[in-house]
Amino acid sequence: MGSTFAGRVVAAHGRHCLVEGDDGQRILCHPRGKKNSVVVGDRVRWSHSGDEGLIEQVLERDNLLYRQDEMRTKSFAANLDQVLVLLAADPVFSDMQLARALIAAEAAGIEALIVLNKHDLGAPFEQAWARLEPHRRMGTPVLPLGLKTDHGLDALHARLRGRSTLVLGPSGVGKSTLVNRLVPEAGAQTGEISRALNSGRHTTTTTTWYWMDAERQSALIDSPGFQAFGLYHLEAPELARLMPDLRATLGDCRFHNCTHRHEPGCGLRPHVGTDPASDPLAIDETRYRLYGELFDELAAKPT
Ligand code: GDP
Repeated sequence: MGSTFAGRVVAAHGRHCLVEGDDGQRILCHPRGKKNSVVVGDRVRWSHSGDEGLIEQVLERDNLLYRQDEMRTKSFAANLDQVLVLLAADPVFSDMQLARALIAAEAAGIEALIVLNKHDLGAPFEQAWARLEPHRRMGTPVLPLGLKTDHGLDALHARLRGRSTLVLGPSGVGKSTLVNRLVPEAGAQTGEISRALNSGRHTTTTTTWYWMDAERQSALIDSPGFQAFGLYHLEAPELARLMPDLRATLGDCRFHNCTHRHEPGCGLRPHVGTDPASDPLAIDETRYRLYGELFDELAAKPT
């Protein structure tokens, strides 16, 4: 093997990826060997191979996130500091989508941050904010944002500084507006990256790593798709431990393999639907219902 260089995968599509060196230069690369694959965020060693680069080694990942791609679970981003779930007062968000994103982050050992946009909408914003109360209680940071009025942008900036943040959100919440606000050259870069990776065809399906600052300390990772958050790499019995509100009640069940669904002597169920004012371990009924649905989904997953 000749000389190898350090780099980071900033976009990936099929067998091709764009690697950025420590000097900021980008080169189109592909992994050596058919079985190897890389994801955005991977730190790699690469060597020259004609006009392209060859990925010789993927350095150990701090963490890895998965998504559901039809019937397969695929990894799609690595080495993240946090996951930002962007929601809005409108469209009304799905508790299930939110729960899936948070569970995926928790399973990967990545901190999560919920941001609620469209502060200017008034009553719908207040309603959506109230629905996030269980998350505030379980310790997940929830930030208000108004991209239209610049509400909350400074607080958000402070959360993003010096970290690599994956931004997720259902369509219509203002994700493109946010990415373009934080990374003004994102639009131009996307075109360049699409051309490099996809030989000219436009693609919007590529997860992309953008630097927010010239020093390349703060990164925003924009990824399309939200609904299909991959959880099939998890097992149903792990689930309660990945939901902080449920996890807080664990340890008191009569059976060590209690599923918290119907067993006698369950230590979790007595906290479902209780008043948070008198029960510090109160579990929101919606969250418990989602737990049941996800448990059934994971228990029935194809093997
Ligand atoms: P995406 O689908 O998540 O990428 O969302 P876009 O960035 O395309 O935004 C969806 C719509 O929401 C657009 O019409 C935006 O102008 C609008 N929008 C974004 N931020 C705000 C906000 O703070 N308040 C209001 N009222 N509308 C917003």
